[in-house]
Amino acid sequence: MLLRIESLSVHYDGAEALSDVSLTIPKGSIIALLGANGAGKTTLLRTISGLKSPTMGKIWFQDHRIENNPPEEIVKLGIAHCPEGRRVYPFMTVLENLQMGAYLRRDQSEIKRDLKMIYERFPVLKERTRQKAGTLSGGEQQMVAIARALMSNPRLLLMDEPSLGLSPIMVMEVARIIGEIQNTGLSVLLVEQNARMALETSNYAYVLEKGKVRLEGHSKEVANDDHVKKAYLGI
Ligand code: ATP
Repeated sequence: MLLRIESLSVHYDGAEALSDVSLTIPKGSIIALLGANGAGKTTLLRTISGLKSPTMGKIWFQDHRIENNPPEEIVKLGIAHCPEGRRVYPFMTVLENLQMGAYLRRDQSEIKRDLKMIYERFPVLKERTRQKAGTLSGGEQQMVAIARALMSNPRLLLMDEPSLGLSPIMVMEVARIIGEIQNTGLSVLLVEQNARMALETSNYAYVLEKGKVRLEGHSKEVANDDHVKKAYLGI
């Protein structure tokens, strides 16, 4: 197992945002995390990344307990976070944004190799390498955000709402890229309000409601669940 979360609870000033959440991510899998606004999805990603401390529970990444590790150590262990809202550095070029993704690495020749691979996978970023990231379209900025996360050479990529605000064509493109990322052996934890895209793209899914896991299962089964159909797929 790549990541294992056991009975995790997280509070903000006494208010419970996550309650007794358990979740596992096998190697090479795409796991979807569905839920309405305020369900706790972002909180879960921020807790895995070390940006928020849990009140209870354990997180294992490979053989390491990480729930009390600082964020930079978690990045070094191989977890990259692609935050909601694409937060690229707008006044830096595409290349500088990508280099920022590798700031904790010292393996210069491998960084070069990874940059080359990223440019092969995202040709539009190569074309725009010297352009300021803030001048790119929303879809292109999402590519920069994903590519920057990949530049830390992760084993696990946490993606927070990558399809938010994108056109239907760009949503399909993001789904395609997530599939490609999986083909390279990485795992992805995919937070999405676009439940249809998330269930089509993922192998397994968790539905979070009011900070608790309401339902989990293979994505095809979850897509056929009556509650999910009504509440998340509008069927
Ligand atoms: P969204 O899709 O709107 O981002 P979400 O499922 O990611 O929702 P979270 O952002 O994790 O949900 O929020 C879970 C709960 O924690 C909510 O009740 C929210 O109001 C609360 N919360 C989130 N961040 C903070 C914060 N910094 N301080 C206090 N409460 C917070």
